[in-house]
Amino acid sequence: MQLELKHIARILDCKTGNPANEIIIRQLLTDSRAVFDPAHTLFFALRTKTGDGHRYIKSLYDKGVRGFVVDTLPTDTTTMPGAVFLATDSVLGALHAVAKEARKHSSAKEIIAITGSRGKTMTKEMLYTLLYRNRDIARSPRSFNSQTGVPLSLWGTASAKDIAVIEAGISQSGEMTQLAQMIAPTTGVLTDLTESEHASGFESMDHKLKEKVSLFAGCRRVVYDIDSEYARKGAGYLPEPVKRIGFSTSGNENADIHFDLKPRLSSTDVTVTISGNRYSGTLNFTDNAQLKAACTAIATALALGEEPEYIAGRLTLLQPVNTRTEVLEGSGRSTIIHDRYPADITNLAGAVDFMIRRLTPVKSATIILGDLVQTGHDSSLDYKRLGQLLANSAIERVVAVGKKLAQYAPLWRGNVADTVFYKDTDTLSEAIASGAISFDNQLVLVSGTNDRDFSNITGLLEARRHETVLEVNLDAVVHNFNYFKAQLKPETGIVCMVKAGGYGAGSYELAKTLQSHGASYLAVAVLDEGVELRNAGITMPIMVLNPRVVNYSELFACRLEPEVFSFEELEAIASAAESHGITGYPVHIKLDTGMHRLGFVGEDIPALAEYLKKRPALSPRSVFSHLAAADDPSMDDYTEQQFALFEKWSSELQSHFSHRILRHILNSTGITRFPQMQYDMVRLGICLYGVNTMNDGSQEGLRNVSSLYTSIISLKHWPAGTTIGYNRKGVCHRDSVIATIPVGYADGIDRHLGNGAMKVLVNGVLCPSIGNICMDACMIDVTGCNGNVAVGDKVEIFGKNIPPAIIADTLGTIPYEILTSVSSRVKRVYYSE
Ligand SMILES: *Cc1c(COP(=O)(O)O)cnc(C)c1O
Repeated sequence: MQLELKHIARILDCKTGNPANEIIIRQLLTDSRAVFDPAHTLFFALRTKTGDGHRYIKSLYDKGVRGFVVDTLPTDTTTMPGAVFLATDSVLGALHAVAKEARKHSSAKEIIAITGSRGKTMTKEMLYTLLYRNRDIARSPRSFNSQTGVPLSLWGTASAKDIAVIEAGISQSGEMTQLAQMIAPTTGVLTDLTESEHASGFESMDHKLKEKVSLFAGCRRVVYDIDSEYARKGAGYLPEPVKRIGFSTSGNENADIHFDLKPRLSSTDVTVTISGNRYSGTLNFTDNAQLKAACTAIATALALGEEPEYIAGRLTLLQPVNTRTEVLEGSGRSTIIHDRYPADITNLAGAVDFMIRRLTPVKSATIILGDLVQTGHDSSLDYKRLGQLLANSAIERVVAVGKKLAQYAPLWRGNVADTVFYKDTDTLSEAIASGAISFDNQLVLVSGTNDRDFSNITGLLEARRHETVLEVNLDAVVHNFNYFKAQLKPETGIVCMVKAGGYGAGSYELAKTLQSHGASYLAVAVLDEGVELRNAGITMPIMVLNPRVVNYSELFACRLEPEVFSFEELEAIASAAESHGITGYPVHIKLDTGMHRLGFVGEDIPALAEYLKKRPALSPRSVFSHLAAADDPSMDDYTEQQFALFEKWSSELQSHFSHRILRHILNSTGITRFPQMQYDMVRLGICLYGVNTMNDGSQEGLRNVSSLYTSIISLKHWPAGTTIGYNRKGVCHRDSVIATIPVGYADGIDRHLGNGAMKVLVNGVLCPSIGNICMDACMIDVTGCNGNVAVGDKVEIFGKNIPPAIIADTLGTIPYEILTSVSSRVKRVYYSE
């Protein structure tokens, strides 16, 4: 899509000066880091909870951007000659207005909108694969489905001649109306709707359903999963003229399209029945979610009138769609980002953006790139855009793997300092193994379409290779952070507790994520944790809870703000600060209102205040206390007493100072139960990691963050009576199938979890441990899988399906201990969906 800037100014009812006459807009930009064609870019300076686009105007101007939509004119416009500012009351409203214009000019005959709880991106990608050979089809990039993502998608897909596929997602009531007006779809696709995707932000699930399907009110047809109770209900709310096309994978007789799926070892035979005719094909995967998405895509293609024989013939082309971006620790102090989205130019732009956000001064950026997935009829266009993308990023080296990258090199390599070519992943693997190419001290983005081949490359670069991994879902962290943010007053700050390596999840990636989502402070337990975060490039304020350190130089140099809980400690820090010639160094005063662990008490306050005033080296930044029993309603009298003491003592301390001292007392449970005591900040810990501390529904909607997975490395059939493991403690009471998994007490699996005390999940079946837990392995009884089990199958120890609380209950402890017990030798994998 392209429009003249003056045309856009007219739509927005803005005046422009003369320069606007010459400017053609080809890219709409909302994230200042994702610019790739500056001269033809229109930047929308959005204000969000966490940032303000107006701050980036000058730096974008310096990169060559000339068009800006703003709600407030910059004060220094004279320093930006040639720039055009379109001033409007609502920048988001302006973006929506431009999106509607793009929709009006769209050449696509069909605009397909996909919504639902799960599988939107997978369905979109598979539909694209089914249709792109015969149709001029475009789709929205990655998971661009929000109030800002959809406008960019409409703009990007408007030039497709046949079909534009747009994903739409909502998180709050009222949003769908906006999306519906913008997209005005002609065909709707309703993927699986689940209840677990609860109705927060809505009055009820029904309300959410009605709002979701309102997107389809003007459609000619809607394709939906008749097997899903909610999708069926949603389809029922559609107005009469919309044609409803239900598909079923379980023989539902009201379905218009039937799928019969026959799983084999690594593929699935599919028979599709439509209008009494049967067509067969094979899908090269077996995962249920992927199969569901494939059926949704096939049903949609058929509903659009594609020839069933043609579609059946294309099924083998469908690949499982992995929508994860993983961050892994590499060898030689490198960091590896593996982007598993199909590597087309739009998705790649998203991955590069993700990478650049993680770039620190100590690492240089390299990309290992496979041939791009073609997005139009002319590949050269994709490679030209690759050139633009690379030119405007900080990537210093491209390792190009594939024939097309070599063929089109003149179109893209011009602006990259260093390019290396390999004909395939095998030759690159050899080069890595022989040391011919090194990635030490680099931030490496791996992006290639054949997931298996590129996974091997990532494997070679990883620091630790072990079948057991702790997967950390960064999106869930953001979700949980925002979940609490929404319950607090807008001005209340959130201190995110990343002590104990982020409750075992690993603090750097969490810190990075939380920093970019507007946390006020991070809190670590000890100095080293804070130093590590600073060295890795975390710039936000950090408090150190237990600063008993000798190395004050490091504390000051890293701007780490200590908690102080005693006069001795105060003296040590004050004299150290004085000898460094520091004044006004921020400290956090801890009061002991009832925990009886650490802190000053009421009678200390006058002396404390006097001391602090005499030592200008230090300045109290905040005063706080910790609740001893926030999660126990039977102790609320005690908690109230803590609140009363805190109010009294903190006010008294404040009365001695003219600057404001921030106050905070609530932990996670405290936020849920006593929001009226939020003061200036709250300290969010365990709930950030998705663990409920209350079981009364008051914390419903938190998402699980950490999952411990391993995989089966050996499988044996044993007759009844066989004993398993050390001291023959495990006994097979029937003919049994026993699997060995490479995780033991040295990984953090408590020995008390042996002999059936723990159940792990294998292919949807809970399987008990059998015998004693060994140091590096344990055995599980997989007889219950009824043969549906193989070496290599994934095993969940805890995570989405098995909450850490269950294991904690078994061991008579709390989930905090389960999360922090996963030993450091277990590889952490961070991902974002
Ligand atoms: C760990 C900790 C918290 C967080 O508690 P959660 O129960 O995990 O939310 C808050 N404040 C202090 C002082 C802590 O040590």
